[in-house]
Amino acid sequence: MVPGLRQRRIRLRRRSPAFVFLKAPGTRRLWLQGFPAFGNILLPKLYLLGARSAVEIEAILPRVSKPARYTGGEWNSVVKDWETQTVRIALAYPDVYDIGMSNLGLAILYDILNRQPDVVAERVYAPWLDMEAQMRAAGLPLFSLETRHPLAQFDVIGFSLSCELTYSNVLNMLDLAGLPILACERDERSPLIVAGGSGALNPEPLADFIDVFALGDGEELVLDLVQVLREWKRQGGGPRRELLRRLARIEGFYVPSFYEVAYNDDGTIKEIRPSEPEAPARPRKRILSAKGGLPPAPTRPIVPFLQIVHDRAAIEIQRGCTQGCRFCQAGMIYRPRLERAPEEVMETARELLANTGYDELSLVSLSTTDHSRILPMVQALRRELGDRLKLSLPSLRADSFSVEIADAVSGPGKHSITFAPEAGSQRLRNAINKLLMDEDALRAVEAAFAHGWTSIKMYFMVGLPTETLEDVQGIMELARQVKEMGRRHHGGRARVRVSTSNFIPKPHTPFQWARQMAAEELRPRHELLRNQLKRLGVAFSWEDPEQSVLEVVLSCGDRRLGRAIHRAWQLGAKFDAWSDGYDWSRWQQALEESGLSPAFYAHREKGLFEVLPWSHIDVGVTAAYLRGEWLKTQRGKTTGDCAPHKGPCNVCGVQNLGAEACLAKIAELIEMKRARAPAAVSPPASHD
Ligand code: SF4
Repeated sequence: MVPGLRQRRIRLRRRSPAFVFLKAPGTRRLWLQGFPAFGNILLPKLYLLGARSAVEIEAILPRVSKPARYTGGEWNSVVKDWETQTVRIALAYPDVYDIGMSNLGLAILYDILNRQPDVVAERVYAPWLDMEAQMRAAGLPLFSLETRHPLAQFDVIGFSLSCELTYSNVLNMLDLAGLPILACERDERSPLIVAGGSGALNPEPLADFIDVFALGDGEELVLDLVQVLREWKRQGGGPRRELLRRLARIEGFYVPSFYEVAYNDDGTIKEIRPSEPEAPARPRKRILSAKGGLPPAPTRPIVPFLQIVHDRAAIEIQRGCTQGCRFCQAGMIYRPRLERAPEEVMETARELLANTGYDELSLVSLSTTDHSRILPMVQALRRELGDRLKLSLPSLRADSFSVEIADAVSGPGKHSITFAPEAGSQRLRNAINKLLMDEDALRAVEAAFAHGWTSIKMYFMVGLPTETLEDVQGIMELARQVKEMGRRHHGGRARVRVSTSNFIPKPHTPFQWARQMAAEELRPRHELLRNQLKRLGVAFSWEDPEQSVLEVVLSCGDRRLGRAIHRAWQLGAKFDAWSDGYDWSRWQQALEESGLSPAFYAHREKGLFEVLPWSHIDVGVTAAYLRGEWLKTQRGKTTGDCAPHKGPCNVCGVQNLGAEACLAKIAELIEMKRARAPAAVSPPASHD
């Protein structure tokens, strides 16, 4: 038995025998119907804190699917004395519990905030459609899971924006909380509405609804927010605008109401300029001041009662990625790259497994096998934690996946492994700067089949800039070779699946100027793949082109889009990332009534010097660098990886944020150039 698993069951039994029964092996789903005394046993404090709502919540839970999404009280959740806390923060994820609980960023903030002696952080997720209907019928406001306090009673509601298709849920959650949706209609009696995550780096589509955006790494930023609020409350508070002014002075906070936007006659942006002296012309994202490494990882994460999307222990082993894939927003906005030392990963893994009872550990990173010491790390984990531990490396780079890593990762439940070649031909992979050769991809697949994996999943994008039908044919050729390889190793048991997503031009990437292919161009590509992969016996899944249009509109929209988001929500838009919730016709109507065209945002190639809705947000990587990469795409040129153990610095602009690793790489580059041409080298200019 994995260390900690037994301990977890014993602890759970002490708290509530019902859970031990329901969490028995193979029983992942928790059904609370028939357990009306549950709240009394496990959460006696809740009745003291909010008697009316607690009773009403218990009454509606038997009428909804997966009631454990709304009970709170999970293992390792933190319930603090509400009355004695100075600052109360609701951490909100605008999607269902099962998705939101898998978000590592929120788990990190929950841990950091609850370590503060005078701060309480509680969680709230978007209630699913059935729960929302019950809550609205009963007149119940949206509540936190830990103490079931209505959201309106918190000082801050902090939304995590990791997917643009959740924006309508942000509005819906504010409405369910009984708060005015528009920021201009809220005052000091309402909680401060803050939003962070990757979506905050194009804040404009949500500018009408959010008071403050948090840009960049949240670990230190969230403590700055707490400090401002502590001080604010100690001084007796005051007008909301004054609080916003204090925040606007801190690097990493962006107050949208302190900026004015002017437009050209053709609908493009003329200018975005600050209207308050406290607001910087270019609000800059925050990076961690941690010297060279990541801050300590949480070791007591909440263990859910029901199966969630990533139901396993997780350690972030690396943040950021320097491969420079030109479509990838995460690779650009999470620079500089930081690594966790293997010794720290080992120590954290021991604690995590003991504190949660999980028998699966995920080493989280944008590209796990790029960690400079990945092999000794996974070998040491395997040696110490034994064969019963399932190790998962969620983002594998095929060209660095070796036989040795395959051996170390091998363990129980070894069935399926995923690679992401992204494009079917070498030409297109060069154009998108995915520096993976066909031979490397096939070698990785061979290693995986030879080491016992029977199922290979491969991710590709379609509709990429410069893509032709020949490139799409390349996906089939690669799939054919992988299928043949699988048959050689495992006969009829070998499974191959190809999944495609539609290319989405994302802010702050070299492809931010690119147009998205319209549905009429994407559908023939899907059709071609569907027919031919079926003949090869390869499973295939793809995305709805219209849903992708909505994603581009929400990702790349400007401040005017707020009207359309508001209207779409009024027309019933919510859960747009789900087939149960998504309805393109609502958005079409909302965009039309707002005088906006989806084609303007999604299908138009933007001018290289056009002011983009996010041009005023400084994420480190400069527009000049991105432009250079976009032009290299047209010329079929690639750019090397700048990781310390790989190539030289590409002077992307992140050095201007003062990141130690980047400054060291810049110094190396200068030395290198000096060695080549001693007389003529001056330091690389920081550019925009
Ligand atoms: S500044 Fe240089 S080392 Fe740092 S991320 Fe950019 S290219 Fe890489």
